[in-house]
Amino acid sequence: ACIASALSKPSNIKVIARFRPLLDFEYRLSESRESVTFQGDNQVGIVKGKEIEYYTLDRIFDPDSSQEEVYEFVGKPTIEDVLNGYNGTIFAYGQTGSGKTHTMMGLNIYDTDTRGVIPRSVSQIFEAVESDGGDIEYTIKCSMLEIYKETLKDLLDPQPLNLKIKQCPSKGIYVQGLTEVSITSEDDMLELLSLGEQIRSVASTRLNKTSSRSHLIFIIEVCQKLPNDSEKRGKLNLVDLAGSEKVSLSGVTGTKLEETKKINLSLSALGNVIHALSSKADHIPYRDSKLTRLLQESLGGNYKTTLLVTCSPSIRFMEETYNTLSFAIRAK
Ligand code: ADP
Ligand code: MG
Repeated sequence: ACIASALSKPSNIKVIARFRPLLDFEYRLSESRESVTFQGDNQVGIVKGKEIEYYTLDRIFDPDSSQEEVYEFVGKPTIEDVLNGYNGTIFAYGQTGSGKTHTMMGLNIYDTDTRGVIPRSVSQIFEAVESDGGDIEYTIKCSMLEIYKETLKDLLDPQPLNLKIKQCPSKGIYVQGLTEVSITSEDDMLELLSLGEQIRSVASTRLNKTSSRSHLIFIIEVCQKLPNDSEKRGKLNLVDLAGSEKVSLSGVTGTKLEETKKINLSLSALGNVIHALSSKADHIPYRDSKLTRLLQESLGGNYKTTLLVTCSPSIRFMEETYNTLSFAIRAK
């Protein structure tokens, strides 16, 4: 057996995998049976031809893991960092249908048992605000945007505009004209999240695309004014990435071909940036895509990044699962 390991080098990048359970329809098909074995809490074996290939990451969640367990490991420490004034980013990466949205949002963001990382993060932030005795003045702002074919769309503003990424010394990198809403309660933030989701699904129906081809980015900025008038600022980026399966270029020509290539661009650029960061390369190719350019300040330096890859346990998807885990290993 061959062992691929992500534990050799320490870094700011935590790489985690989560395997969803077999879905009902898969369970009924013998060609969909489960074909992975879990060892300890950070190793998985995948059947590859006649061999089993083992992958070791910082943590691997098996199909029995709950939303709460995943949150405790993935979300909670990140929110603590953000409340301490750092920038934290969590990416969900994986093929369409592997559980990215389930992990990040959950089926229903109002159901406290089954909701995912994004609503739980919101909850944890407002718990911190409420448990403070009133010494700290909090300003919490959020934005929500989508990147589709290298075009940025504000999800809190229904007007379809292609927003531009700008940079200036005082603000750093920012999206010009992006809606930022000040929020004072968990309920208001969840309402905003639902609104953004609605705008996203209406827009995708109109353009005849599926949301699985675009990246969703939810940004929460927490500014704390301390009693001595100093300020602590932290930013949280929660990203539900486009499906990692390759978009087929066959039979596509002309403008359509250029568009199709753009769908794959941000994901491969993200892989290259994370790889360059973790191998401490001199040049980090942030400018190769909108996604990496936008998140440049949250990916490098002292910032904490979690790459959470989601996989199906079914033998039918082993090829994609293998690609996904290779992406994860390369990130370390
Ligand atoms: P993606 O966003 O990666 O395309 P989804 O999150 O929509 O995938 O998941 C695909 C299907 O699998 C959905 O029906 C979802 O409810 C289900 N699913 C995904 N992950 C889990 C899980 N951990 N437990 C139970 N069901 C899951
Ligand atoms: Mg999804």
